[in-house]
Amino acid sequence: MPAPRPGYVLVAEKEIAARVAELGRAITRDYGETNLVLVGVLQGAIPFVADLMRALPIDLTVDFLRASSYGSGTTSSGTVHLAADLSVDIADRHVLIVDDIVDTGHTLAALKRELEARRPRSVRTCVLLDKTGRREIEVTIDYVGFTIPNVFVVGYGLDYDGLYRNLPHVATLEGI
Ligand code: 5GP
Ligand code: MG
Repeated sequence: MPAPRPGYVLVAEKEIAARVAELGRAITRDYGETNLVLVGVLQGAIPFVADLMRALPIDLTVDFLRASSYGSGTTSSGTVHLAADLSVDIADRHVLIVDDIVDTGHTLAALKRELEARRPRSVRTCVLLDKTGRREIEVTIDYVGFTIPNVFVVGYGLDYDGLYRNLPHVATLEGI
């Protein structure tokens, strides 16, 4: 069996750039003068955070955390295990969690709950891709780049077995 390879382009580089610019305008409008903490979820959100932060001409702090990688990164109780935690205190801050994709919703729901326990002023969520058809738990996604069908995707941060995060677009995976 040959190793799975990227298939067709689902979201092109130019479409991503245009949508990131739109999201940047919406977030800028919503947050205005408030000093924001962008919380990127490693490793998948790296390209998205890098592009999105440059589309936000407002005062902000960027930080990252890593959810543990067993299962969906959560336990059945919905508690997320942080393999790497933030380095800033988010108490009294406005927080925007930025992730690559929401699928079942467990990861983002648990992360949101974890960060809300630290008494921030607000916690919102922003994802590049939303597989709405796969949701198992309700979680509000405040900013969505693209809604996609239930297909496994790679590229623009998303990996298969550690590969293909560096693709500039989002592609399907062939051969799984
Ligand atoms: P959840 O199911 O908790 O919403 O998503 C858990 C994680 O699964 C996501 O953060 C992402 O890392 C991974 N994931 C979900 N769907 C895909 C996909 O189509 N491709 C890749 N590479 N990862 C995915
Ligand atoms: Mg992820």
